[in-house]
Amino acid sequence: MSVFNLNEQNANLDNKIVAGLERLSQVFRILLWEKAKEHSLSPIQIQLLIFIRHHRADRTTVSYLAKEFNLTKPTISDAIKILEQKKLIEKFTDHSDTRSYTIQLTETGDKVVSETENFTNPLTEIIARSDQDDKLVLWENISGYIRLLNKLEVISVQRTCFNCRYFSSHNGKHFCNLLNLKLSSEDIRIDCGEFENA
Ligand code: SF4
Repeated sequence: MSVFNLNEQNANLDNKIVAGLERLSQVFRILLWEKAKEHSLSPIQIQLLIFIRHHRADRTTVSYLAKEFNLTKPTISDAIKILEQKKLIEKFTDHSDTRSYTIQLTETGDKVVSETENFTNPLTEIIARSDQDDKLVLWENISGYIRLLNKLEVISVQRTCFNCRYFSSHNGKHFCNLLNLKLSSEDIRIDCGEFENA
């Protein structure tokens, strides 16, 4: 069976949903490519810059980035080398292990991120116009699919509430013990700055 076989796709709602999600993933690729070209960078280089800006230092090592983006360490190291040559990032050596370093954006790198990270805007605008109840259903489904794909090890790194040491759940009610916060469906995070592995 193939979701790309039009007869099988069009005769089955599951296949149409998967094909639709694949089409949406293409949208992100296209939008990102357009921004990357404007700055003579590759999509992964832009993605690294955006990630580095919004995550704490211990999540900007080559090992962490390799897991985050499902790439090898040499591939990440090569991308980092180019970003450093372009003066978009700086490396900070770990004093306890001089082979390891964390990465910070330079002022120019920060400016590039400001000019590129809005590549998702066309989709944000469509979602913003949707009905609130529809958005909640969509969010519950998306966060659920991400959780399942993580369990299947298709998505490796997940800083989501469900994998977090501060998360607890009683009678279907979720709670964050760090932020002392009841977590309704819309509060569940898929990338939390305070996340710690359970
Ligand atoms: S710290 Fe963040 S990821 Fe962890 S349970 Fe609280 S909100 Fe969720």
